[in-house]
Amino acid sequence: DTFQELGFSEQIMENLAAKGYEKPTPIQAQAIPVIIEKKDVVIQSQTGSGKTAAFGLPLLNNIMDNVPAVQFVVLVPTRELASQVTSELTSLAKGTDTKIASIYGGANMKSQITALREGAQIVIGTPGRILDHLKRRTMSFSIVRGIVLDEADKMLSMGFIQDVQLIFKHLPRRRQVIMSSATFPYSVESLIHQHMLEPERITM
Ligand code: AMP
Repeated sequence: DTFQELGFSEQIMENLAAKGYEKPTPIQAQAIPVIIEKKDVVIQSQTGSGKTAAFGLPLLNNIMDNVPAVQFVVLVPTRELASQVTSELTSLAKGTDTKIASIYGGANMKSQITALREGAQIVIGTPGRILDHLKRRTMSFSIVRGIVLDEADKMLSMGFIQDVQLIFKHLPRRRQVIMSSATFPYSVESLIHQHMLEPERITM
């Protein structure tokens, strides 16, 4: 397996090389082609498997450069993970036109609003703050093409189920759903059943 055969742009290939990523991890090799095809995907994986780039690279590949609005949303359970995912995606998107914004609680609302106004295309954030922006109409999900639920089991165990359900109500009916989770308790399976369409399941 190589990154070459996955069809990424030259800039992204350069960024992968600069990060020292020589070949896809097993999770990446399986998940990337399926996510690029816009299918719903469930990734069973732990931190350390390369799951961030497994969903991040296809989003960067599928972004429409000329649309200055939120196209993909990445929901994460914690601020710490939001900042990790943001830095991973930002480094993978280096030198491209893709605009990435981080939207989490405790950070400055005004600077988040500015990033959204300036046409953020991928938004990474925690459910509470994302919902806050949707309610205030400082952010719209009306043309979102896909959502990632990263570490879904952790998100639900932290009590975010209601926020997640409300966020889904803001999404267009036709959209891609990608989930990563280490474990699959009933609550996670139930979320998959409610919101995902014949998801492909990927495990290591
Ligand atoms: P993650 O599971 O997304 O938290 O990634 C775990 C670590 O693996 C991070 O430090 C990444 O930078 C690194 N990583 C991700 N993909 C690759 C790859 N294809 N080759 C080498 N390192 C990678």
